[in-house]
Order: sequence, then C-alpha cells, then structure tokens
Amino acid sequence: MMVNLAGVLKEAKGGGYAVGSFNVYNFETIRGVIEAGQELGYPTIVASGESYLPNMELDEVAGIVSAMSRRVDIPLVLHLDHCKSVENIVKAIKAGFTSVMFDGSSLPFEKNMEVTAQVVAMAHAVGVSVEAELGALAGGEFSNEESGEEIYTNPAQAGQFVERTGIDALAISIGTVHGMYKGTPKIDVGVLKKIAAVVDIPLVLHGGSGTPENIVRECILNGIAKINVNTEISVYTVEKLKALLASGKSFHLSQLALKEVGFVKEVVNKYATMFRPR
Ligand SMILES: [Zn+2]
Repeated sequence: MMVNLAGVLKEAKGGGYAVGSFNVYNFETIRGVIEAGQELGYPTIVASGESYLPNMELDEVAGIVSAMSRRVDIPLVLHLDHCKSVENIVKAIKAGFTSVMFDGSSLPFEKNMEVTAQVVAMAHAVGVSVEAELGALAGGEFSNEESGEEIYTNPAQAGQFVERTGIDALAISIGTVHGMYKGTPKIDVGVLKKIAAVVDIPLVLHGGSGTPENIVRECILNGIAKINVNTEISVYTVEKLKALLASGKSFHLSQLALKEVGFVKEVVNKYATMFRPR
C-alpha cells in the first residue's frame, strides 16, 4: 500500500529504527527494492531523483510503483529525491508521489526557507510529505549526484528552519558523503545530537552507502529515521553484472534483467537489515 513519508518516519523514530530510502533508475531497480522490502516485511521508500529523469519520467515511475504496490502488503513511500525545481515537484505530486524532497540547500538560508514553506503548503494540501535539506554533503567516489564543498548543518538554523517551514523531515550534513567514502568516514555524531536537541521531526541521513554499521546505529539512536542509499546499489550491481558477462556464458537480455533485480535486492537487504528495529 502507498503511504506518505510523515507517518512512516514518525513510527520509525518512535520505534528506534530507520527506514531505508533506495534510489531507482529503471524497472529492475524498482522491482528489486520493492521485493526486498516485501521479503523483510518492512516499510520501504522508493526514491526517484530529478537527476534520473533521462532514465524514467516521473509518471512512468509512479505508474510502475503504483502497480507493484498492489501486490505487496508493506507500507511503500514513493519519494522524489533531491529536487531543485518546483515545477518537477508539482509534476511528481500530480503523478502520485507520496513524498517530495525540495533541495534548496544551495540557496541562501532565507530563500531556502521561503521556497520550502511554499512547497510544504502545496504538498500538505494533498497529503504529500516534504523533506528539505540544510547544509551540504561532500562528494565521494562513483557518485553521479551533484556534490560540492562539505558544509555541516548549523543546529541553530535547523531549529528555525523546521519551525518556519513545517517540513516533515530534515536532511542534514554531518560527514556522510554522496558516493562511496574515499578514506575512513568521519561522521560527527556530536553535530547530530545538537540538531536533535532543537528539532523534534525525524532527521534524514543522505550518503548511507558504505557507512559503518556502528555509526548507523548511533545515528538512529540520535534521531535519524530515514537513510538514503544510492551509489552502492549501482556499484554492486554493475560489478556483479560485469563478472557475469566476463564468465564467458551467454545471456539473453531478459535473463540479465532478472539477475539485476537479484543484485539490487542483495544491497537493499543488507541495508534494510542494518536499519531495522533491534
Ligand atoms: Zn542525497
């Protein structure tokens, strides 16, 4: 069943776990994410980013997810990841997305608040949840997401931002990266604690790929209720497909597509298991 983000995250925060948000780029990744969630019996967020519009239009993603949601009994959120265009947010809501992320993190603080508040007013009117972002993540390896200089989220600004905009979830920057880590991850749980002390809505950690389990658990204990995983789905699946093709066996494209579904499921399974209640 399709639900919005707010309810799922509220329950996660109360229950001391996080819900995984997994990026999809085609039918196979959508199917892998949803099937893994169904097998674990756990709420799942299917995330489609503005940067993957050349792969699939928003109404195409929504059509597939909506059809598949009728075959599963877990709560499914269809989330628009990192969207800078209000026009695309409107299109996503019209197409049936139940959650949107307006990414105004590169805007000046006041402007980010102003546009985010407008998005919230529009989305909430039709029961759609809104995530927004403060601060910026650095870029790691193998990421195709836009990343620049790392800016940690300012806790005082976070409090003001949440109060003024009415968002349902706040993405923060505390040292995770978009992509795979180049060295040892340096994640500042102290900043997270300061933000959690002034913000009572669920917090979101982007850049989940490769984040060590002990840090993930500490983040969950301190208010993180949604964790995004993108790069590892791609890196792992591409490596596995490469090995298959190098094995010398020949495959019909339809068989490779099913293999792809299986590899995506393995990554989703690993992370969803890490995030679930203990
Ligand atoms: Zn992100």
